[in-house]
Amino acid sequence: RTKEVPLKRSEDNLRSPICCIMGHVDTGKTKLLDCIRGTNVQEGEAGEITQQIGATYFPAENIRERTRELKADAKLRVPGLLVIDTPGHESFTNLRSRGSGLCDIAVLVVDIMHGLERQTIESLNLLKMRNTEFIVALNKVDRLFGWKTCKNKPIVKAMKRQSNDVRNEFKMRVTQIITQFKEQGLNTELYYKNKEMGEIFNIVPTSAISGEGIPDLLLLLVKWTEKTLVEKLMFTNEIQCTVLEVKAIKGQGTTIDVVLANGVLHEGDQIVVCGTQGPIVTTIRALLTPHPMRDILFINMSKIFYANASLMPQGSYLHHKELKAAQGVKINAQGLDHAVAGTGLYVVGPDDDVEDIKEATMQDMKSVMRRIDKSGAGVCVQASTLGSLEVLLEFLKSPAVNIPVSGINIGPVHKSDVRRACAMLERKKEYGTILAFDVKVSPEARELAKENGEDKKREASGEAVFPCRLKIMPDCVFNKKDPIVLGVNVLEGTLKMGTPVCIRSGESEFIDIGRIISIEINHKEVETAKKGQKVAIKILSQKIFGKHFTVDNELVSHITRESVEILKAYFQDDMGKEDWKLLEELQRDFKIDQIYF
Ligand code: GDP
Repeated sequence: RTKEVPLKRSEDNLRSPICCIMGHVDTGKTKLLDCIRGTNVQEGEAGEITQQIGATYFPAENIRERTRELKADAKLRVPGLLVIDTPGHESFTNLRSRGSGLCDIAVLVVDIMHGLERQTIESLNLLKMRNTEFIVALNKVDRLFGWKTCKNKPIVKAMKRQSNDVRNEFKMRVTQIITQFKEQGLNTELYYKNKEMGEIFNIVPTSAISGEGIPDLLLLLVKWTEKTLVEKLMFTNEIQCTVLEVKAIKGQGTTIDVVLANGVLHEGDQIVVCGTQGPIVTTIRALLTPHPMRDILFINMSKIFYANASLMPQGSYLHHKELKAAQGVKINAQGLDHAVAGTGLYVVGPDDDVEDIKEATMQDMKSVMRRIDKSGAGVCVQASTLGSLEVLLEFLKSPAVNIPVSGINIGPVHKSDVRRACAMLERKKEYGTILAFDVKVSPEARELAKENGEDKKREASGEAVFPCRLKIMPDCVFNKKDPIVLGVNVLEGTLKMGTPVCIRSGESEFIDIGRIISIEINHKEVETAKKGQKVAIKILSQKIFGKHFTVDNELVSHITRESVEILKAYFQDDMGKEDWKLLEELQRDFKIDQIYF
């Protein structure tokens, strides 16, 4: 490719901002996207909304048309708005480019009836971490009791139509939610009352069902990005591009879905992307976008078939010679099998040194690698994308969890990953674990893990302590001294051979009695007894019945942090729901912290 003259960055040539929708589950993220996608102004005209790969494009004309009532039909400076189709943390954390976020602005959806919820706060933390602008959509206003529908109206107009009761409830809920944001260290205000935009985050009340407030949200998204992000939005021909997903497509091999945030991509460009096995250097074979959503008329013999894009054969795409930012694009090229989602894509220019670029592509991966524990002891973590891996590592590192990580990988769990985790069994067996998030496990890897697990389970069985509570039956004390022989009733849990038992002697204090060396039901030796069974047990013990304990004392399993870890690691299948519940109670009594794996 011949060298391009570097484009002079200018305020008159802006690209479309990229927007991500975030928030707690069920707040209406998907519905909100559907709602803003819902109306095409004039099909086939300049204002048409287009479906791209992983994103929807709203041209400025469309936004202007839909916000006419807000009297904002002055010229918009950006060509449009690109909204990422999959709402949530996942796509936000994946949209990264050279260490910073690729998402220019986010919509944080909050349900007006529920206020801030767990994932709202998680989203807030992610936004703060990346320093990303956002607007709060206070959704489901139509759920306020007595709400009068004003389809697709600006929110102030819709509010004027409501009764005093509705307005009062609205005010009360907004005040509560503003307070909740304050508790998170953020100042927020209804956007039409906000005098200090920039210091105070905007709230736009919306309904994704009847469309009230949607014009406000669209306009604010565009106006706000234009106002605050001009520098970032200036068009350049320096590529800024992120891999969102790595996908195998029938007949095409592995393709990558990317978001092109800035610059122009051409068919035939030499590109470099980050791969789990090292940088991948390849050439763009095809730049693809879906067929437009426009309805298509098929005329066949005398019959007329009316079809739309959803009926188009799967995998039929439009080919492009070049595509300009901002765009969601599918790239077909060779050798993309091990590409890592959530990393930057680079184009090799005529003056570039491929080696430098290869190094640059691996930077994102390296920055995540730095979080691995230096001692080399820790669990293995695997995720589908670099972004989710990063968040998972962050979580494991937090003081409340504090689990060291020795190895990471992206993509499906293969045999080699299991082998690596097994090596850890020798050093510290509780770390011989793979935490796999949103990835497939190959059958061979599963088999290998099971084999190793079985071995370890056998080894560990001596140290596993199943939880149980035993009631001594008054007339069934057969021997008071070593070995103590008693008849007991299994009140709760599972009684196993070898279990160390103790009695309570106060708040969180216990006296050890000894280890169970025999269990008999009707004079027959058994390995286990279940809740409700009456059995005779023999306890190897230094204590004496009648002196150290009596029928009034309940016998319980003596658990330790170690024994709980072993149960969790190897005996998941042997423990029932009630066993876990009892274990949790005992953990509290024995003051053993929550163990996360
Ligand atoms: P998501 O999990 O955040 O993507 O939430 P969805 O978009 O799937 O919405 C969850 C539920 O809330 C669905 O039953 C929607 O129909 C409903 N919902 C979403 N937005 C609104 C709204 O503005 N008003 C009302 N009444 N219901 C809504």
